[in-house]
This record gives sequence, C-alpha cells and structure tokens, in this order.
Amino acid sequence: MRQRKRSQELHARASRVIPGGVDSPVRAFKSVGGEPPYIVRGKGSRIWDADGNEYIDYVGSWGPLILGHAFPSVVEAVEKANRDGASFGACTPAEAELAEAVIEAFPSMDKVRFVSSGTEATMSAIRLARAFTGRKYIIKFEGCYHGHADSLLVKAGSGVATLGIPGSAGVLDEQAKFTLALPFNNQQAIKEAFHKFKNEIACVIVEPVVGNMGCVPPGKGYLEFLRSITEQHGTVLIFDEVMTGFRLSFGGAQQLFKIKPDLTTLGKIIGGGLPVGAYGGRAELMDMIAPLGPVYQAGTLSGNPLAMAAGIATLQELKARPEIYRQLEQRSEALVDGVLNAAKNKGVALTANRVGSMFTWFFQRGTVHDWDTAAKSDTQAFGKFHGAIMEHGIYLPPSQYEAIFMSAAHSETDIQQTIAAATEAF
Ligand SMILES: *Cc1c(COP(=O)(O)O)cnc(C)c1O
Repeated sequence: MRQRKRSQELHARASRVIPGGVDSPVRAFKSVGGEPPYIVRGKGSRIWDADGNEYIDYVGSWGPLILGHAFPSVVEAVEKANRDGASFGACTPAEAELAEAVIEAFPSMDKVRFVSSGTEATMSAIRLARAFTGRKYIIKFEGCYHGHADSLLVKAGSGVATLGIPGSAGVLDEQAKFTLALPFNNQQAIKEAFHKFKNEIACVIVEPVVGNMGCVPPGKGYLEFLRSITEQHGTVLIFDEVMTGFRLSFGGAQQLFKIKPDLTTLGKIIGGGLPVGAYGGRAELMDMIAPLGPVYQAGTLSGNPLAMAAGIATLQELKARPEIYRQLEQRSEALVDGVLNAAKNKGVALTANRVGSMFTWFFQRGTVHDWDTAAKSDTQAFGKFHGAIMEHGIYLPPSQYEAIFMSAAHSETDIQQTIAAATEAF
C-alpha cells in the first residue's frame, strides 16, 4: 500500500476549518471511498502528493491543463505579470490581447467579456439572454453542469449527482421554476417544451459535448436540431464550452460540429490554470452589457493580469502547435481502447465514450447517451477501480460521472503504463 500518512494529517487539519476539508465538493473522495491525496507539485503529465507518491494525472485541474502541469511558457508569463503587479482593477493591455485570440478562434463571437469563473460566465450569459429576449424560461439538460448559480442547479450532473442529491438546498422553487431540465439527445422533449412555452423561452444552454455526466457526445444531427429550433423561435442558443473550448479543437465543439451558437461561455483552458471565465457572442447581444447597455455584470478581479497572461501563453502554444490536437486524438484513442481491451480480457463490464481528449469509461455494458443511461453505471465497481488504479500511480477523477482528460504532456509511455495499471486494477 502506498503511504498516505501526510495527506491524512493535512486532510484532518483542513477538515477542522473547511467544510469537508475541500473548497469544491468534487475533490472529496466521498463517492470512491478513502481520502484525497494532498498534491504538492505537478510537472508535465505527473503530480506528486505530500507523501512523495507520484501519479500520472488525468484530471488536469478538471480540464484547464491541456499543456500539462507547470508548462514553461505559462509559468514564465505568470511570473513576469506577477512582478509587474498582480491586479489593478483598471484596464490592462493583456485583456484585449486575450480577447482577440479568443475571438479569432471562435468566429461566432464579435465580442467577449472576461469574468473569474465558468459559473459567472454561464450565469451572466443567461442574464443577457433573458434581457435580449425579454423572456423568462431557460432550457437546460439533465446531467449538464453549468456552474452553481441558483437557477442552474437543477439536475446538474457530476458533482451534484455524485453526492446523490437532486439539486441543492437553499435554491428556492421560485428560482428554479423557470428552468426546464430536459433529457439530452432527445429532440421530441424539446419540441414539446417549445410547443408548451411558445415565445417564452429565453435560451437553451447546452454542453455541446457533455463532460459533466461523464463524457456524452451529441447524437447525429442533435446540435443542428438545437440550432434550427432555437432560431425558429427567436431563442438564444448558448454553447457552454467551458470544458470543450480549445480542447476538442482550437475553436471548440462549435468548430468541430460546424455550428454557430448565439452565445458561448468559456473558462478552464483560456485561464491556463488560473481562475478565468468568459462569455461572448454577436455584438448585438454583447453591446447590451454595462457600460454600453442595461445588463449589469462586474468583477473586481475580472481580466486579472496573471490569469490573462496564463491564458495568452496557453493559447499561443496551442496555436503554434496545431499538431497537438492530432496527437491528443491518437493517444486518447490508444488509451481508451487499451483499457477497454483489458476490461474485456478480464470479463469486466465496461463501455466508453470519447471525443478527442475527453473521455469516460462507464462501468456497464449499455451505451450512454443521456443522464438516465449514464446513471445505470456501477458506481461501486468504479470506486473500487479508482482506488486500485491509484495504488498503481494513476490519478483519475474521483467520480464515475466526470470526464477524464489527456494533456499534450502525456507520452506513449504514460499511456502504456496506464493500460498496464488498469489491467492490474480490474
Ligand atoms: C467547469 C464547468 C463550469 C463551471 O466553471 P467554474 O470555473 O468551475 O465555475 C461550467 N460549465 C461547464 C461545462 C464546466 O465544465
């Protein structure tokens, strides 16, 4: 058994002063058993815990670290920005620089506004959609997570699902009653909602490839359908690309599937590991935001120089080396198939969904295309596997309902080592 004494002490200390010892519930090991390792260092594909254990990391800070940990040009950019002053609450040149880079990659955006988290991005995008349309209702999908704003904590996927709670205490029925949560990949359900709430639906918000009930891709024609029915009803289509933006391709899921949403939310990768979110779209919508228009949204640390520097350095690297995406595709495919094969040889019921470098192994034999089918997974078997593979030095997200991420730093050797570890762990 790997020694975890130091992590346990740190967790006991944290638990006395922080609820559950964690600042985000997904970090707790509640659904897989055991206690979380305390991470003290990361480099490339590897992380080290307080007891000196080394792991190949497939969490990547839950998505941002597409270049791996402590990528040199990102570290350098942040250090330089920090020396010049961490924050001013005033205009800085880096904001327009990152905005231009984002807009160039996402042609559906004329303008973009930076915030400090994905939660703020989606919350603000919905406020804007409601202001633009003058309508109340929003449609989201079961198992999709769009941050923890009150009206979005309805059937909200991984973090919530892992804890087995339907929504959240403290959210008023009055705040949730304008949120229609529909099954993902089901066109009929949307047609019925638009029929019932004609001219009352402000927006449809969707993860174009879902990551937050585990990885679930859209069925053939599904995103096209969402685009056309929203257009037909004057409803704003929001692609929440906080996870998929700059991951599935440089231009996100919308480039991959060739669909133009009205608004896009981003986060994770565009902050290069620092706290960032963003929302953007056509000028006609974005110019409704204060100070130009009546939709208020603000932030003391929005567009923070360190976060902008990390984002700019990350996007520069991705842009300079487009072959990264081909490598991610090939290596992710090799890893996912290798582990599936190992499961098959051991008679373990396992199925996988993958789009690019985002994937999930579901412990079941069925196909997973929405929340109900994802929920058929054997979470106990996942928990056992998670603990066993961690003993072999592989760090996976501690929930069946999370996407696993490959980074550009993961080598062929890492992948072979991971497949070997999985074979032992089954
Ligand atoms: C992570 C995530 C969010 C929330 O972002 P935070 O920065 O954690 O607030 C929103 N939407 C999606 C799709 C995400 O994956």
